Amino acid sequence: MKCYLAEDLLQNYIDGLLRKETEEELQDHLQQCSNCQQLHAQLIAAPQTVLEVSQNKQSLGLWKKFKRRMTRRTTYSIIIITAVLLVCAYFFAIGTLTKSKNFIYEAKVIGELWQIDMDITNGMSLLPLTETLYGEENEFGSKPIIGHIIKPKQLVPSPLLESGNSGFLFGVSLHHFANPDYKVIVRLADQDIIFMKENLE
Ligand SMILES: [Zn+2]
Repeated sequence: MKCYLAEDLLQNYIDGLLRKETEEELQDHLQQCSNCQQLHAQLIAAPQTVLEVSQNKQSLGLWKKFKRRMTRRTTYSIIIITAVLLVCAYFFAIGTLTKSKNFIYEAKVIGELWQIDMDITNGMSLLPLTETLYGEENEFGSKPIIGHIIKPKQLVPSPLLESGNSGFLFGVSLHHFANPDYKVIVRLADQDIIFMKENLE
């Protein structure tokens, strides 16, 4: 075998890619040729090869880390989505309007504030949803506030929230009641309780 041929084959020989006959011819040549022996030794110890191996190891490590991180992120996402769904279900799906027999309240004027203190008495949690009622558009192009509607919803007490959510305080500025149309409606399952200028308490 000629040297140039042996040189071309050496890397494949090291990588074990040569067919048996070629390999034996190359081995014969290596035993006779100190130049090719030297080249063979250099290729085996070549820093380039070492570098490639360590780079491969590194990228393998990065890939593992990336995979691990993705898995963790997916887990977090699932936990967060589940929590959000639970809270949504808790606030909007499970709640029903409280019945008047389970509902007590105290309305009073404190300074410039009108407020109503509400409690539920059947062991459920209380979450009033409030909406603002608007009147017809006036000459200034804005719709005046003519009321607030409070919907005291009762909810199954949730382990997600602290216990003792049976009370709720709602307040509006007293000046709303100067408008004769303004009212606060507390909407229960079986009746409306309406507060106006004439009956603030
Ligand atoms: Zn040679």
